[in-house]
Amino acid sequence: MSNVRVRFCPSPTGNPHVGMVRTALFNWAYARHTGGTFVFRIEDTDTARDSEQSYKDLLDSLRWLGLDWDEGPEVGGPFGPYRQSERMDIYADVAQKLLDGGYAYHCYCSPEELEERREAAKAASKTPGYDGKCRTLTNEQKDAYLSEGRKAVVRFRMPDTDSTWTDLVRGDVTFAAEHVPDYVIVRATGEPLYTLVNPVDDVLMEITHVLRGEDLLSSTPRQLALFDALSALGIAKGPRPLYGHLPYVMGEGNKKLSKRDPESSLLMYRTEGYLPEGLINYLALLGWSFGEDREFFSKEEMAQVFDVARVNANPARFDLRKCTAINGEWMRALSAEDLAIRLVPFLKQAGVFTVDPTAEQLATLALAIPLVQERMETLRQGVGMLGFLYYDQAGSPAFAVDPDEAEKVLTDEATPVLRAALSALESVDQWNTENIEQALRAALIDGLELKPKFAFGPVRVAVTGRRVSPPLFESLELLGKERSLSRIAHAVKD
Ligand code: GLU
Ligand code: ZN
Repeated sequence: MSNVRVRFCPSPTGNPHVGMVRTALFNWAYARHTGGTFVFRIEDTDTARDSEQSYKDLLDSLRWLGLDWDEGPEVGGPFGPYRQSERMDIYADVAQKLLDGGYAYHCYCSPEELEERREAAKAASKTPGYDGKCRTLTNEQKDAYLSEGRKAVVRFRMPDTDSTWTDLVRGDVTFAAEHVPDYVIVRATGEPLYTLVNPVDDVLMEITHVLRGEDLLSSTPRQLALFDALSALGIAKGPRPLYGHLPYVMGEGNKKLSKRDPESSLLMYRTEGYLPEGLINYLALLGWSFGEDREFFSKEEMAQVFDVARVNANPARFDLRKCTAINGEWMRALSAEDLAIRLVPFLKQAGVFTVDPTAEQLATLALAIPLVQERMETLRQGVGMLGFLYYDQAGSPAFAVDPDEAEKVLTDEATPVLRAALSALESVDQWNTENIEQALRAALIDGLELKPKFAFGPVRVAVTGRRVSPPLFESLELLGKERSLSRIAHAVKD
């Protein structure tokens, strides 16, 4: 074990999104690369916005992705609890110590007063931000405010010096003191804010590396200053954590990918049947590269070579098509047995199976998958291509041809083709691909002198329900003689 300790610390608000997953992945990969510790912390101090459902979704998402954590919810660890809502006493205590040490102070300004002064500062072309009015209140002044019924927030006193750190991704970064005004760490209600609880827990959980999105860059000078105060108070024992800010992810039209963009929702990938391997593989490429032009790799392979120094500071572009293509590569890389098992929930969801498939049905699925594996980019696409194998069996509904396809392909002209196919197939004794192909070719291509499209199209739609299906003869073999014949017979227009 190395002493590297990284954390993934989302707030349980809304649905998990890809930006979040990328952050989790990079932290996970760094922990695994260094033999360090991956801490999963839940930042749920905002009772108005946090939800239990979102908390559960977060855990479920990380599990689905296979990003295992060493410390955190349901796993425990020596620095718990790992839900900030269970650590409120700690924050109250630290806030008090900061007040006592003079690192923070009570501010009585009302929101309206702050707004008014902000406007005035702007009008005078000065940097708008808290002006330090309550930094040096006397006890009399404080009492006067209190007697007016005002409630104070707690503000952190920023040092008057510029803030500089060497970012692991961006190199040297400096924020001028005037751009980082004193900031609120505890609300007037006593509720501690992200600005306090996040760096306090980074200290108490002995986090060594903070890898997070670039949107949080401006909070770093504040957190460093708070860290220094906690050091002076003897609360922080080690050195400042190192920070690395992962580049922005751009979506359509070169705008930042937003949580509201549909391709941003993790749930979308799960319902569409992306593989966790594929999604992770794609997200790894957002700001990082494996090297050697390699774009296909597992998260374990990524972890082997992952180095924060190789994260690119330039914005990354999110490309759903590429993500899907990489997922398709994973679809082809997995074994048919593995894919069969992963496909089952999708088949159930689509109503192909109303109960769990039998071992035999699962085996058929594994035989059928190689027939379409080249063409499936997501598991869900497999449902439409393979569902036909199961209808008309116990535990599955009756088979029906897609009405659009029926109208286009199962026309009057198709009737003689289907009749000929039916009688040819009836006399196939050994029901296998080879014999099926021979019989159909003899009857339709040689007998009726049809082009393959007109010969096999109607048969395909009759038995699979669609024009896009696995190869026809193999499909008929897997479907079995009885169901094949009955579907063709059913499709014949009387
Ligand atoms: N809870 C914060 C968020 O979800 C964590 C930010 C950080 O990594 O510091 O944005
Ligand atoms: Zn004030």
